[in-house]
Amino acid sequence: EALNKILDIKGSIRVLCRVRPFLLMERLRTREPISTGSEKIVVKSGGSRKEFEFDKVFPQEISQEDVFVEVEPILRSALDGHNVCVLAYGQTGTGKTFTMDGTNEQPGIIPRALKELFHQASLDGTSSLTFSMSMLEVYMGSLRDLLAPRPACRAYAVTRCNLNIQTDPKGMVEIEGLTEVQILDYAKAKWWYSRGRRARSTSWTTVNEASSRSHCLTRITIFRRGDDSKAKTEVSKLWMVDLGGSERLLKTGASGLTLDEGRAINLSLSALGDVIAALRRKRGHVPYRNSKLTQILKDSLGDSSKVMMLVHVSPCEEDVGETICSLCFAKRAR
Ligand code: ADP
Ligand code: MG
Repeated sequence: EALNKILDIKGSIRVLCRVRPFLLMERLRTREPISTGSEKIVVKSGGSRKEFEFDKVFPQEISQEDVFVEVEPILRSALDGHNVCVLAYGQTGTGKTFTMDGTNEQPGIIPRALKELFHQASLDGTSSLTFSMSMLEVYMGSLRDLLAPRPACRAYAVTRCNLNIQTDPKGMVEIEGLTEVQILDYAKAKWWYSRGRRARSTSWTTVNEASSRSHCLTRITIFRRGDDSKAKTEVSKLWMVDLGGSERLLKTGASGLTLDEGRAINLSLSALGDVIAALRRKRGHVPYRNSKLTQILKDSLGDSSKVMMLVHVSPCEEDVGETICSLCFAKRAR
């Protein structure tokens, strides 16, 4: 039984690490501070050497397919009725958006997951699966509906954007007034997803600015109706989250973030870390209330849910400080 418990803990929160490949202009570097094994990553800087273990470490040359293989079990859990979360964590520029979104040629987790859900629905003979989608952005404690029908919600100043988070008697989190669109097929799902992505960038000067200062959350709600006409519909949630950049304040100044913005992101990320660490301890108080992010994800970070955290790190010498911070954060979650 003790072993089962361990397996259960191991099974409900998985922490994986992905190292970004060197970009074109970085290729001339000779010193490579990072080396990886299948479950470990070693960071060397100056005279020091730090080693971290995770459930899985992806080396630089890993493909999007290989990353998605690790996501498939969590998708299956979502289809089985669990609430699940896939979280991309890391310093700005380490590949969070590449992993979640990807490119047309190398699609990431979100488009692949959408495709897989419809594939599973088409295979599923006994029950009927349907899906809906919502997208929102969390910026300095405000929520913005990215699929809102009218562009009225473009600016954070509009009060309607401050959606309220409620918990129903069964403990399910409801975001009051958040747009939820039914997605009938993969093409439609992709269309809505691109629309949400576009809505996100309109209020920012650059896409990178948006993604380093805010969290972008995509929620797929899965409805499973039993064969029997009287059987009640089961509902589960799949959250896929591109988190704001984890860089520390000192450096965020350099990348143009204001102190308040940096502080808001750091606070919500540390609140997330606290929640995951408390869940791993399997006892005591879980401090969900400390940030909007953890309030929103509350019913998908709990006991019966599955969490997959993908920690992204840079391969570069000059990022070693941030890399170690990210790995320490991730180690705490694991
Ligand atoms: P983040 O979202 O963490 O700020 P991005 O996903 O925008 O980082 O990645 C930064 C840059 O690195 C982008 O140009 C992206 O295309 C590139 N990149 C990141 N990860 C990979 C990868 N695994 N393979 C190829 N290019 C990548
Ligand atoms: Mg990004």
